[in-house]
Amino acid sequence: MKINIAKSAGFCLGVKRALAIADKAAKSSAKIDMLGDIVHNEEVVKQIKKTGIKKIDKLTKGENKTLLIRAHGAPNAIYQKAKKLGYKIIDATCPMVKEIHQIAKKYQKKGYKIIIIGDKKHEEVQGIVGQLDKNPLVLSPKAKIGKRMFRNLKKAAVISQSTQNIDEVKDIICKIKRYIPHLEFIDTICKPTRQKQNEVKTMPYDNDLILVIGSKASANTKRLYQISKKINPRTYWIENDKKINPGWFKDVKSVGITAGASTPENIIHSVVNKLKNIC
Ligand code: SF4
Repeated sequence: MKINIAKSAGFCLGVKRALAIADKAAKSSAKIDMLGDIVHNEEVVKQIKKTGIKKIDKLTKGENKTLLIRAHGAPNAIYQKAKKLGYKIIDATCPMVKEIHQIAKKYQKKGYKIIIIGDKKHEEVQGIVGQLDKNPLVLSPKAKIGKRMFRNLKKAAVISQSTQNIDEVKDIICKIKRYIPHLEFIDTICKPTRQKQNEVKTMPYDNDLILVIGSKASANTKRLYQISKKINPRTYWIENDKKINPGWFKDVKSVGITAGASTPENIIHSVVNKLKNIC
């Protein structure tokens, strides 16, 4: 059985950068707090916990404390509140997410209504929303589009969460452009996401079976799985090697592997090793 691993499988540069920043911060003498998990992967979260970085639900008095902002970024209000409470801030927001913040602010300043295609509950989207003075419209890529949603809207700029499926984003833009006379689309899907999605659009044709590795909490992993599953029904989403079912591999001559942006390399290796024992 041949094993083909996607070049882009695993950590993206934004996650690598955030983990390096977290690691450096943990080695300092400061007490580091973080609002939520650093990335959506249980294994990485465990490792971070071991370094002494503390996950918190809300900000409290921050004397001698440092707040680590995660790769997804955070709303402005969090920075302001943290500073007010006395926290020092270490910002690990991915530069590509920062760029989305800048784009959103620039277009809002020019008088555009901002439309964000993404998941309202996702931290990255909340971070973008929290940069803006006026409320943007957040649309899920699966949203039912109707004229009433855009009443009196003459001018809008559409951006998306960095990890959205580009095809779904384009579909939704086609649906909304008839309702808004002046619509600008700024493609804010990040390069690593694009690479992952491009690879997962060909791998399912070239392999009998596809394994997508990543946490069930990882939205970008979910999208890789959905894209692959549509092309090749023998696509399985696994968190780690323990979830592999040897029964899946009957008559399989080649397996394609990809992994979400928050999946560590050691998990990918353990999956590959397990596969080698199956064939
Ligand atoms: S998925 Fe893209 S935007 Fe998100 S952290 Fe990785 S590189 Fe940055």
